[in-house]
Amino acid sequence: MRITAIRAYRIDLPLKEGSYKWSGGKSVSVFDSTVVEVKTDAGVTGYGEVCPLGPFYLPAYAQGVRSGLLELGPHLIGEDPTDLERLNRRMDSALLGHPYVKSGIDMACWDILGKVTGLPVCKLLGGRYGEDFALYRAISQEEPEAMATKVAAYRAEGYQRFQLKVGGDPDTDIERIRAVRACLDAGEILVADANTGWLQHQAMRVAGAVRDLDVYIEQPCRSYEECLSVRRHTDLPFVLDENIDSLQMLLRGHQDAAMDVVNIKISKFGGLTRARQARDLCASIGVAMTIEDSWGGDIVTAAIAHLAHSTPPELLFTSTDFNSYVTVSFCEGAPIRRQGRLAASSEPGLGVRPDFAQLGGALLEVRG
Ligand code: MG
Repeated sequence: MRITAIRAYRIDLPLKEGSYKWSGGKSVSVFDSTVVEVKTDAGVTGYGEVCPLGPFYLPAYAQGVRSGLLELGPHLIGEDPTDLERLNRRMDSALLGHPYVKSGIDMACWDILGKVTGLPVCKLLGGRYGEDFALYRAISQEEPEAMATKVAAYRAEGYQRFQLKVGGDPDTDIERIRAVRACLDAGEILVADANTGWLQHQAMRVAGAVRDLDVYIEQPCRSYEECLSVRRHTDLPFVLDENIDSLQMLLRGHQDAAMDVVNIKISKFGGLTRARQARDLCASIGVAMTIEDSWGGDIVTAAIAHLAHSTPPELLFTSTDFNSYVTVSFCEGAPIRRQGRLAASSEPGLGVRPDFAQLGGALLEVRG
C-alpha cells in the first residue's frame, strides 16, 4: 500500500464558554484546527487532526501545521502508511523537529492501519482496558469564586477531576485553589496547572500556602530546572507537562524524581507512534499519565480516546474530551462523554467519519 495524496482542511472550533484563559493573560476564543487526510492506492483513507493551543503555548502554530505539511508531504508520497515506525523515521529524516506537523499524518496512518486490519486503534496500541476511563475538566482562569461556580456545574455533569488554570497573580491563585478545593469531596482530584506562569519564588509561595490541601501542582515554571527546584521543596504531588516533550526528557525527569505524573500530549511528541512510546516507557517505570493533546476537535478526541483506553488504568491519571468544549462537531462516530467518562470507538481505525460539507474544500494537497 502506498500514500498517493495528503490533503489538509481547516476547521474553526469556537468555545462553548466563549473563551479559554490561562497563565499570563493568554486566551483563545476560536481554535484553528487542521484536519489531515491521507489517501492511498488501495482506496483506504485515513484522518488526523492537529490543533495547537494558540501560537504561544508550545512551539507550534496553526499555519505552521499547514506550511509544514507542504514541506514534509512530498517526501511521504509512495511510502507505505501501515509501516508506522518506518514512516516516522522517514518524517524525522525529511524534517528535523516540528513534531506537531507530523502528528496529523501519523494519526491518519494509524487510522489507515486500523481500517486495513479491521481493528480499532486502541487494540493496535496495546488493548482496551475496561468499559471507559475518567476525564478531567479544565477550568479557564477567572476570579476565584467564578472558578468555584464552574467546578460545581461541571461536577453536576459527572466530572470528578478538575484542572484549574492558575499561573497568574500568586495571591489570587492561592485563593483560586482554596475556593475550588472547598467545593470538592475526598476522592475528587484537583490539579493547579500554572502552565509555566510562575517565577520560582512565586511557585514556592503558592506551594507553601496550599500545603495543607489535597492538590497537585502542574508545570509551575518555564524551565525544567526551576520546576525541579520547586518540586524538591514541596510535598505536594507534582505533574510536569510543557518540559516533557521527548523520551530523553522523560528519562531525565524520572532519573531526577522530578515528577509523579507526566502529561503526554499526542502532538507534543509528534503523533500516536511517539506518544505510545512515551506512554509505554511511563507504564514500565511506574509514572502515571495524563493522556491528551494540546487541543482539538472530534478527530483529536478520538485519537486521545484510543491511546487512553489502551493505557493500564492504574497509570492513567486522567484524560480529556476536547470535542465537548467546542460548539462544532464535524465527524460522525466521535467519542462522546458520559458522566465524566469516555470510551474509544469499537469501529476499525479511529472510528470517525468527517463531514466534508463542514470542512469545505482542501486548503492544500500534495500528490505524486
Ligand atoms: Mg498542563
